[in-house]
Formats: sequence, structure tokens, C-alpha cells
Amino acid sequence: MNTFELDAKYIAGTYRRFPLEIVSGKGSLVTDAQGKEYIDMGSGIAVTSFGVADDVWINAVEAQLHRVQHMSNLYYTAPCAHLAQRLCEKTGMSKVFFSNSGAESNECAIKVARKWAAEHHGPGCSTIVTLKNSFHGRTLTTLAATGQEHYHELFQPLTPGFAHIDAGDLDTLRTQCESGTVAAVLIECIQGEGGVVPLDPAFATGLEALVREKDILLLIDEVQTGNGRTGKMYAYMHYGLHPDVVSTAKGLAGGLPMGATLLSEKVANVLSFGDHGSTFGGNPVAAAGALSVVNRLTDDFLSEVTEKGCLLRQLLEGQPGISSVSGLGLMLGLKTEKPASEVVSACMEHGVLCLTAKDKVRLLPALNIPTDLLRKAAEVILEACK
Ligand code: PLP
Repeated sequence: MNTFELDAKYIAGTYRRFPLEIVSGKGSLVTDAQGKEYIDMGSGIAVTSFGVADDVWINAVEAQLHRVQHMSNLYYTAPCAHLAQRLCEKTGMSKVFFSNSGAESNECAIKVARKWAAEHHGPGCSTIVTLKNSFHGRTLTTLAATGQEHYHELFQPLTPGFAHIDAGDLDTLRTQCESGTVAAVLIECIQGEGGVVPLDPAFATGLEALVREKDILLLIDEVQTGNGRTGKMYAYMHYGLHPDVVSTAKGLAGGLPMGATLLSEKVANVLSFGDHGSTFGGNPVAAAGALSVVNRLTDDFLSEVTEKGCLLRQLLEGQPGISSVSGLGLMLGLKTEKPASEVVSACMEHGVLCLTAKDKVRLLPALNIPTDLLRKAAEVILEACK
């Protein structure tokens, strides 16, 4: 049996895959089983931050593989300690909990919020308010956090204690926050799965003022927007927000599974021995890959991400078949006149891999995509949108 047949027979049918088997790649170019080359404008949904089989990343990961690939969290290992230090230095946060995915990084954020709120405001203060159209993961708790009902339907009962409000609706948020039951508000600065929808800055500022006034925690989900994707280390930095907890994953380790929950001073010591854990959390190989990624996210490099994002936007905005462009940096959503799935299929046929998000074409290329490839990809996308 070939890969398609094996997949159909033996893998749970949760993914609607494109009929494409990727076998290798270098940087922003990937090659399928027939030897056809594609420009990768999705980077594994914002995961391969420096592209496929990047040399610096390979060297960092390989060096660690030769030392020790895993140790339990009963012992110390250097890569995760150095990575935590770098993440705290870059954000002003105080401590980090490592896990393996975005959902898990949010689970940790929610546990921290619930424990902190119970200690500070009593056990009845446990609700987490999130936004409608948000996406926070697939575990039963992060599904409950996700503000899209169609994900909930088949999996009741979900974890209780979540409320969803419309983005922009400060009045409802105020009513919720005045109930005395809200532990935290969890937001994405740009809703990724929701269709690359940026938060209105005035709402973000009002939301922060409100949670501060009511002594409620601000949790920011930077799973998709984080680690340089938007041209800053984290997207909340565009908004001038001061989160108590930041959750991230995806691009952090450049292609290895890693989640991180960054804790501000206020909540740094909420979790104590036995409160939380993860066998693979902080795995030294993933941490070595992540350290190499984070060390390259310098101010100069992030300026290049911003410039490339502006270039891509300029090439696409206002062109025939494209009604609007949303997003920041190298996280863009195109509202197209043709159905997004049709555009993505046409792009694939002509050697460019794009994503969708809701009714939009979503572009999340590697942060170091060369400008000539960005221009070539834009040409193909423009042709497909016409
Ligand atoms: N949060 C956001 C904003 C996401 O975009 C995603 C995944 O798309 C998740 C959480 C879940 O991440 P994971 O699939 O790594 O669990």
C-alpha cells in the first residue's frame, strides 16, 4: 500500500488532507513524492519558523541528540533552563512551565488562573471569559475555552466554567467581571483559526483596564501569533498589553513539539510541587531547537519579518479578486472573491502551498522566507485569485 492507502486504512480520519505527500525540503521550498517543488506559505501552520531542514536548527537539535534525548523532570537539564531564561529576558515574565502543544500551554494558563483566583478571591471565582470566534485547542478544557460552538457539539459535557463574549463588547465584559466569579480573561490578539481577525486596539486597552480594576488575570494565547510571527516577539507587544500569563507553542521549537506558559511575577509561584507536570515538558531536544529559534529572533531579524509582511501585503492588497487583507507581519488573511479553498487548490497546482482560516486564505510562511520566493508566491496567489 502507498502512503495515502496506509493513511486511509490505519490513521483516524480526523484530517481532511490534500492529496500531497511531502518527502523533503529546504527552507521555504518543499518537495512532494513525485519530485514537484512548492513554495511553502504555511510552514506547518506557523511551526517551522526558519523553514524546513534549516541548518542552524538542525545543528542545535543534532548536538543535543548526541548528548541526551530525554531525562525525566526529576533531574535538571540545561537546554530548558537556558530557554526559560531567554523567554523571560525577552518578555519580562518571571517563570515558565514547559509542555508539548498549544492546548497544553493553555491548560496550564487556566490551571494557574483558577488556583490564583481561588486563593485571592475564594473558590467561587473560577470562570474564564474568552472571546467568540476564538480557538484555544482540542482538549476538553481548551475546547470549552474555544468560542466556537460547532467544535463543542459532539463532546458534551465539556469542562464547566467558561463564558464567551463578543470581541469589542466591553459592556458585557464589565457585567461578567462585576459578578465576582471571573478568574481570568483569555484572548488571542489576532484570532488565527477564526480567520486572521485582529483585536480592535481600543477594545484590548479597555479590556486590560477592566481586568486590572477588578483584579482579574489577563491570559494571552500566543500559540499562533507568537515567537516572531507578527514582527514582534509576541503579538501583545503591538497592543502595549501587560499579560499575567502568556501561552505559546507552534513556532517556538521550529518544528518539534513544545508548549510554554510564561508566568508574570504576580503568578510566578502559584503552581507548586505536584500541581502540574508533563513527562515530555522541557524535553532537551525540543528545548535545544527552541533555544536556537529564540536566539535568532533579534530586533533586526524581527524588523525583517515586519518588512516582508509589509511587502507581501503590498503585493496582494487591492488586487483583482482580493477584497481585503488582514493580519500583522507574516500572518496574513486574504478575503478572496472566489472561495478560499478554490484559491488554495489553484495555488497548489502551480507550486505554492497556502492555508485557509474560515473563509479566508491564510499565509504563514517561514519567518526567513527569501524575498524572491515571497514575490513568486504572491504572483501565483494573485493569478489564482483573479
Ligand atoms: N491556540 C491557538 C491560538 C491556536 O491557533 C492553536 C492551534 O491552532 C491552539 C491554541 C492549539 O494548539 P495545538 O494544536 O498545538 O494544541
